[in-house]
Amino acid sequence: MSVTVISVVVPFYNEAENVVPFFERLIPVLTALTHKWEIIAIDDGSRDETGNALQAVHRREPNVRIIRFSRNFGKEAALSAGLARVQGKHVLLIDGDLQHPPEVLYEMLRLQDRGADMVYGVRESRRTEGRIRSSCSDLFYRIFSRTSDVAIPPNASDFRLLSGRVVRALNALPEQTRFMKGLYAWVGFSQQAVFYQAEARRNGKSKWSLLNLLGYAWNGLVSFSVVPLRVWSVAGMCIATLALLYAIWIGVTTMAFGRDVPGYATLAVAIFFLGGLQLLSIGILGEYIARIFTETKRRPLFVIEETTGFDPAVRLPLEQV
Ligand code: UDP
Ligand code: MG
Repeated sequence: MSVTVISVVVPFYNEAENVVPFFERLIPVLTALTHKWEIIAIDDGSRDETGNALQAVHRREPNVRIIRFSRNFGKEAALSAGLARVQGKHVLLIDGDLQHPPEVLYEMLRLQDRGADMVYGVRESRRTEGRIRSSCSDLFYRIFSRTSDVAIPPNASDFRLLSGRVVRALNALPEQTRFMKGLYAWVGFSQQAVFYQAEARRNGKSKWSLLNLLGYAWNGLVSFSVVPLRVWSVAGMCIATLALLYAIWIGVTTMAFGRDVPGYATLAVAIFFLGGLQLLSIGILGEYIARIFTETKRRPLFVIEETTGFDPAVRLPLEQV
């Protein structure tokens, strides 16, 4: 059997205290395998000691390569940067806060060897999350699967093992708004779930506030569905039909019973209701135009300040070192 390479992509944003415990747990898992391996750590513009801690790990373990962003570009950009640089036939995406137990890799590899191109981790219990958060995310998955063409499995995390061809497909996607969960589903290929117990964050706290999450969910919906745009044609049609029926009714009653002057309440309600509806639909239109705007600017997804441990012959076009 030929030796295959496993690439591990890990985003870090202000995780200084987690760096050492993370590598102490991940590296033994990798060395226990017969595969060759590399780890690509992305320092997503951390303002704490994360950068130095990663450099120290690299000095001891040259297979740990580092990409440092010039500022915080977000986890999705960090994952994209890592994926653009991987060499492996198997690519593991894992969080650097020890919420994803690295030992699950064995089971993931077993499933991948049996033919699954993408093996995604599903949190077995969400006791690490609050009630509001988990019911919001349940609602999101329900709305998403109803309104978009691709289905994302509920509770599937970014903890995944991808095959080389999945990585190539992901790298070929040109969009700027990288809603990774949707993109994984969009590229297709055979996918298989593996369950894991989400652990509590080792140190620090989650970078996601409820407001961030709502923004993320909204972004996901509008990036993958045009239903919010279409809804307004249906609403317009229904309202116009009702208005027509109402006009007929007014005509008939006026002819039968004479003129009926009072009606100010009806007028006021109609004006406010339709005015609100029009503003809302214009707002939704604006959301899509805003996305067209960001896409057409064609800015790179991230700016790299420094890389450590990579073959200097291979350089990304986006890279500005
Ligand atoms: N992360 C990142 N950039 C960001 C936010 C987060 O690279 O702007 C990293 C973070 O360091 C961690 C992973 O993404 O390794 C998951 O982040 P977090 O734990 O905050 O998210 P949660 O686990 O709550 O979904
Ligand atoms: Mg986390």
